[in-house]
Amino acid sequence: MSSVLKKTDVILIGAGVMSATLGTLLKELAPEWEIKTFEKLASAGEESSNEWNNAGTGHAALCELNYTTEKADGSIDISKAVNINEQFQLSRQFWADLVRRGLISNPDQFIRPIPHMSWVTGEKDVDFLGKRFKALSQNPLFQGMEYSEDKSRLKEWIPLMMQGRDENEPVAATKIDSGTDVNFGALTRLLFDHLKTKGVEVNYRHSIKDIKRAPDGGWIVKVQNLDSNRVERHHAKFVFIGAGGGSLPLLQKTGIPESRHIGGFPVSGLFMVCKKPEVAEKHHAKVYGKAKLGAPPMSVPHLDTRYIDGKKALLFGPFAGFTPKFLKTGSNMDLIGSVKPSNLFTMLAAGAKEMGLTKYLVQQVMLSNAQRISELREFIPDVKDEDWEVVTAGQRVQVIKDTPQGKGTLQFGTEVVSAADGSVAALLGASPGASTAVHVMLELMQRCFPQQMPQWEPKIKEMIPSYGKRLSDHPELFQELFDATADALKLEKIAAVRR
Ligand SMILES: Cc1cc2nc3c(=O)[nH]c(=O)nc-3n(C[C@H](O)[C@H](O)[C@H](O)COP(=O)(O)OP(=O)(O)OC[C@H]3O[C@@H](n4cnc5c(N)ncnc54)[C@H](O)[C@@H]3O)c2cc1C
Repeated sequence: MSSVLKKTDVILIGAGVMSATLGTLLKELAPEWEIKTFEKLASAGEESSNEWNNAGTGHAALCELNYTTEKADGSIDISKAVNINEQFQLSRQFWADLVRRGLISNPDQFIRPIPHMSWVTGEKDVDFLGKRFKALSQNPLFQGMEYSEDKSRLKEWIPLMMQGRDENEPVAATKIDSGTDVNFGALTRLLFDHLKTKGVEVNYRHSIKDIKRAPDGGWIVKVQNLDSNRVERHHAKFVFIGAGGGSLPLLQKTGIPESRHIGGFPVSGLFMVCKKPEVAEKHHAKVYGKAKLGAPPMSVPHLDTRYIDGKKALLFGPFAGFTPKFLKTGSNMDLIGSVKPSNLFTMLAAGAKEMGLTKYLVQQVMLSNAQRISELREFIPDVKDEDWEVVTAGQRVQVIKDTPQGKGTLQFGTEVVSAADGSVAALLGASPGASTAVHVMLELMQRCFPQQMPQWEPKIKEMIPSYGKRLSDHPELFQELFDATADALKLEKIAAVRR
């Protein structure tokens, strides 16, 4: 056991896409700061950020029907979709800037163009999709979107999904070619490779065991080297808890008042994957359907073209499930261990309120392979079950907190929880997730580094030109930046923006 206290400016806990993004931003803005990363696994991007653990959708709300809701008067509320698209534009600009400056190379290793489509069946949902299309088409961020109920057109767009389908069934789809498939695992690895060249210390197989306030207001982090079993103590002025599902227990260890009355509910996921080239070749889109009644938003079914290790595959799901683990590599004691006196009533209230979700998850866990295939058949009527295999996806820990809506309210978004003095911050929740990492980390920096932000702002705007502006209010700037980022990242431009 070593008791020597090693001092540093910043500690990033976890080597996922969030720590990678924050580390890269901070290294650009404060190159003199010393940054250390501790990751308990053997390499970067192995948990939720790994390419097989998430769906790899560049979430820009181009196809996800749960981001647009129908109001009581029948009109469509697109505000959430616009916000998410705005946030994704920040990621695009940041990644494009890193590629242009040669800090990361070969964008096709981590981002590829792929049409994003929404897909519905039945008159009621066809009506909804038509209205949604009209509402989104008014906004410059969604230009280039097409709508069709015409079956011959749909056969061109999604032949695999139309083959063998009942000709009398009302169906409709929207399609936008400027969507993306993002390999967040590859992106995370590229960013950490870059950070290492900038002197950032990245320690794999190092697990954080405790975080305690230091007398000087900084933090003392207890780290176990999993190879030697040695325990080290590191002091940092700022700690980012980017441990994914493991963030909540570490946040609780800080004891900050902001960590009270917060709980987590783990939702696991399964995907069905088809790696047969002859099947994968027949589908070229990410097609998002409508969530089943009572299903939580993260269970919207979708059939996706994925590019992983340069190979095309199809992915369908996710099927939700339940394990008490907070990480795929976590422990069955995670959930119970996260219940503390400070969040007991919050957790109990959520338990009583969320019986519907619990029932849904239990039903999902009980699904047989044949039942999963029958859900897939709603997308691919002629599916052959021998073409598909099941893979276990990452864990999502949904945040439970007390809100004005009531005690123990389940949240489906991402939450940054930080100390009042900004010296420690944790990222909880998982949606829209990795796609909006840049927006989330900029928000975290505003909270934690309010004194430095004015002086950092010019550099942020150099890297992310639309920072501080809503692109939906500046269509020309959107067009210019969209084209420029498309060039840098080798993506599709949007022809229809030029109207
Ligand atoms: C099924 C599923 C589908 C998804 N689909 C999408 C999608 O299509 N598009 C999208 O944008 N997002 C998607 N997401 C969300 C996205 O994957 C996450 O938001 C993102 O990967 C989170 O990154 P992270 O860095 O916070 O966490 P992670 O990638 O999980 O990284 C956290 C790291 O911390 C490490 N760690 C944990 N505890 C400790 C400890 N005590 N000490 C040291 N290290 C520790 C872990 O080993 C891990 O490597 C999906 C997620 C899931 C689960």
